[in-house]
Amino acid sequence: MSEGKRFPLSLDSLGKQSKSAQVATPQTATRNVALGTEQRARPASDQARPMSMVSDAVRQAMVGRVARQGVRDEKVLAAMLAVPRHLFLEPGLASQAYIDASLPIGHHQTISQPYIVARMIEVMRANRNGGLLNRVLEIGTGCGYQAAVLSRVATEVYSVERIKALHELARANLRPMRIPNIRLHYGDGMLGFPRVAPFDGIILAAAGMEVPQTLLEQLTIGGRLVAPVGARHQVLQLIERVGNDEWKTATLEDCHFVPLRPGTAG
Ligand code: SAH
Repeated sequence: MSEGKRFPLSLDSLGKQSKSAQVATPQTATRNVALGTEQRARPASDQARPMSMVSDAVRQAMVGRVARQGVRDEKVLAAMLAVPRHLFLEPGLASQAYIDASLPIGHHQTISQPYIVARMIEVMRANRNGGLLNRVLEIGTGCGYQAAVLSRVATEVYSVERIKALHELARANLRPMRIPNIRLHYGDGMLGFPRVAPFDGIILAAAGMEVPQTLLEQLTIGGRLVAPVGARHQVLQLIERVGNDEWKTATLEDCHFVPLRPGTAG
């Protein structure tokens, strides 16, 4: 990735950023749950309209940048254009929502950088079915942003989060958007979601040392899993299920994600 020097940001730099913005407190998500409800209750006031016009313009600029960084899939770019990323951040950070960086969402977690969100979905869509995705699974809901983008390219989106407060934050963020095809689940995503498997696509928003075999078993034949793999040095991997007991792996590019962790955190 030619942009490797500029991003993804290291977790250290995120820490600094969040400290100066004074947002990365454990209370952030809880506070946001309340803010999310307020947002919904707020009427379309005189203030809201100019704000949304501004965000449309900056979102357009963000999508232009993502396209210049190499994402070609029009459907993915359209989805990125449609989802109001600033509504997934707490108000103090909303003005930074469209910069090309991951940003803190509380609980030492981040909303992923726009480029990598788009890239992962593009790779997942490049399947043998011409991009048709019936059921997809996201592991690591975080604030719910990527799930919202996914809801525009797949018929059904299932997203699992292991931190209860973030699961609830995503719920609060998504509720006012009334997206009918997202199902959020609180649990350990390393186990996948066997009750609704198989999936045409699986995206991991957190990096493990390897992709759990359980997840590979939950792909349809022809299904594609996209995941960051590694610790300090991470690479984006694409694993396609090519047969009942056969998977094909490709390493795509460097990336930087928060770690995938087992179990749940209440
Ligand atoms: N998808 C988010 C990114 C969230 S960051 C976005 O749209 O920006 C990654 C998330 O993965 C964190 O919230 C973290 O708590 C979660 N996570 C890590 N390990 C997990 C696991 N085993 N199961 C479910 N979620 C996990």
